[in-house]
Amino acid sequence: MILGLYDSDEPIFVGKLGTGFSEKTLVSLKDKFAKLETTEKTIDAKDVVEKITWLKPELVCEIVYQNVTRDSRLRAPRFRSLRLDKKAKECTVDQIRRAGLHEYASKRDFSVTPEPKGNGEKEEGNAFVVQEHHSRRLHYDLRLERDGVLKSWAVPKGIRVEQGDKRLAVETEDHPLEYRKFEGTIPAGEYGAGTVKIWDSGLYRIKAWGENKIEFTLNGKNLRGNYVLARFKKAGEKQWLLLKTRD
Ligand code: MN
Repeated sequence: MILGLYDSDEPIFVGKLGTGFSEKTLVSLKDKFAKLETTEKTIDAKDVVEKITWLKPELVCEIVYQNVTRDSRLRAPRFRSLRLDKKAKECTVDQIRRAGLHEYASKRDFSVTPEPKGNGEKEEGNAFVVQEHHSRRLHYDLRLERDGVLKSWAVPKGIRVEQGDKRLAVETEDHPLEYRKFEGTIPAGEYGAGTVKIWDSGLYRIKAWGENKIEFTLNGKNLRGNYVLARFKKAGEKQWLLLKTRD
């Protein structure tokens, strides 16, 4: 099965599914599929090499999956059931893009903190922000837009790095896109209590984004040029090093 989720008005490809069906389910699906066959290619299923029999994108199914890859594909999806109570257009890609915001939400009480809940603001493409955060200890939060969220690192010593310098950067939970515009005071007793000010913002360009190494170019007001974030496994799971490289 080719799986899609709606992105605005177009269904986009989010993965391929081949397990989780009982014999009985397969028979009943075959009947339902027969009625929806079309010659029109309904989703751009880029890396599917097998021959595809296209269906009108009307059936909704519930699936379970391990996680979402960086390019918004479902890893190891398994079929659960058809959901005849749902319409296809209700199934949107933000459901998986924003799955990463669970940790962010679980740490905050939005009736108390002025921080954004994250309502699925449209992406800018490649926005970045550095926020000066006067919490228990002053640090600078570097956030890079990626897959519909802001990937985040706390840099205790700040990001004005000279070429050849190394700065410790501690990976923190993904933040919603709205956070790049956030300034304010997080009340005492709340997670990250203290004031947040935007220290720099702008667009950035990804040169390479891997599991262990991210190379990018910042184009902000304070920060410009080439940087690298490299995992620093010896120091721990969430530890990275931020380096300024030659422009
Ligand atoms: Mn912070």
